[in-house]
Amino acid sequence: MKTFFNLIQEVQKPGLCHRCGGCVTFCTAVNYGALELDKGGAPKYLEIEKCIECGLCYSICPVIDELEEEVKRKLAWSSPMGRVMETTVARARDERIRARATDGGVITALLVHLFDTGKIDGAIVARPTGRFQRSPSLATGREQILEAAGFYFDTSQGMNQINDRYLTYSTIEEFAPMMQKGLRRVALVGTPCQIQSVRRMEALEIIPSDSIKFCFGLFCSGNFIFGDAQRKKLSENHDIDWDTVKKINVKDTFRVHDKEGKIREVPLSDLDFMKRHACRYCMDYASEYADISFGGIGSDEGWTTVITRTPLGRAVFADARNKSVEEFPVADNANYASQALSTTRVASNEKKQNARKQLKTQGSKGVNVVS
Ligand SMILES: Cc1cc2nc3c(=O)[nH]c(=O)nc-3n(C[C@H](O)[C@H](O)[C@H](O)COP(=O)(O)OP(=O)(O)OC[C@H]3O[C@@H](n4cnc5c(N)ncnc54)[C@H](O)[C@@H]3O)c2cc1C
Ligand code: SF4
Ligand code: SF4
Ligand code: SF4
Repeated sequence: MKTFFNLIQEVQKPGLCHRCGGCVTFCTAVNYGALELDKGGAPKYLEIEKCIECGLCYSICPVIDELEEEVKRKLAWSSPMGRVMETTVARARDERIRARATDGGVITALLVHLFDTGKIDGAIVARPTGRFQRSPSLATGREQILEAAGFYFDTSQGMNQINDRYLTYSTIEEFAPMMQKGLRRVALVGTPCQIQSVRRMEALEIIPSDSIKFCFGLFCSGNFIFGDAQRKKLSENHDIDWDTVKKINVKDTFRVHDKEGKIREVPLSDLDFMKRHACRYCMDYASEYADISFGGIGSDEGWTTVITRTPLGRAVFADARNKSVEEFPVADNANYASQALSTTRVASNEKKQNARKQLKTQGSKGVNVVS
């Protein structure tokens, strides 16, 4: 039976850990309590003697391919980037949501819709806590869901608040309150690696996945470390004054919006020096295992590219259509959605190719090189 010890050898030591928190989430939720996350979000033994060698943390890990085929089968995954039931370009109907949102505010609008119609008791999101900081958050009310929208800068926080937790979070802290409060119907917003980990828990029918009713996945080209040095280099190379920045978003480029509405575009390749190491080996761009996937790529500013992937995801979007969300009018561009899908496919393919190259160089065995 392989255990966390093997995750250390096969995943952590070769630098492949996505820091999704899946292993710690399960071990904590089931009360074995053998693992914890360190300050940087990496899993480690808390009390090794508490490990009963159940082996489930190993199976849950998205880097390990043990459950890959089963998860794919359950979700009717198909090549080249997962099941696509419907693609659309959409935005929130509520202007207040749009004003706060990363792109079109569709995620927030759908979460609020699910909450208002009594379909969820809460949502695991990432709340802004500073100019570059986010903390995992269990939102159990409308206002909390709204507050978690978008990428926003709070200039009152000062530059000393900037640390490398930007874009990086683990949901582990939020599964515990979810279970303590007895919430049984929660929506999870997560990066592809986090969604993959929850899907593996579902395949094993283990807690806390039974309480996650909706998986909303973000497109993801990588997780970037925004330490002092990285920020300084970015600022020098691209003439960015962080004090004038209002929001950032990621499409095919990294976009820095200033308070006057100007957008500075930075090629994603220029951010490579600050990309988290494990993200170089990751093949999932478009959240291939989510109920609905969301990204900015393929859509104009203020709109979100939305891919519904499961019947559940399609039902959620259909219920919110023309109530909480609106689609780009087909009459104005009949090919917009299919172009957005093609653009996403190109980005997805590029990410897979790069990851394959990296894995070949790295020469690791037993890791998830499928898809
Ligand atoms: C790390 C990361 C990388 C991304 N890379 C790309 C990319 O390469 N290409 C692309 O097209 N899109 C990318 N996205 C997705 C994009 O930035 C938007 O989140 C997406 O288009 C949805 O926009 P929206 O306006 O509909 O969402 P909003 O209504 O603004 O809602 C966003 C939701 O995401 C949650 N959230 C924010 N950050 C995180 C996080 N780190 N982890 C989990 N939840 C979070 C918020 O709490 C909120 O609930 C990335 C997002 C993240 C977090
Ligand atoms: S008890 Fe199970 S889940 Fe926890 S560390 Fe040990 S093998 Fe992993
Ligand atoms: S990738 Fe996730 S599940 Fe695997 S070791 Fe890292 S934190 Fe744990
Ligand atoms: S690229 Fe995104 S999905 Fe992949 S490991 Fe990094 S954060 Fe997770």
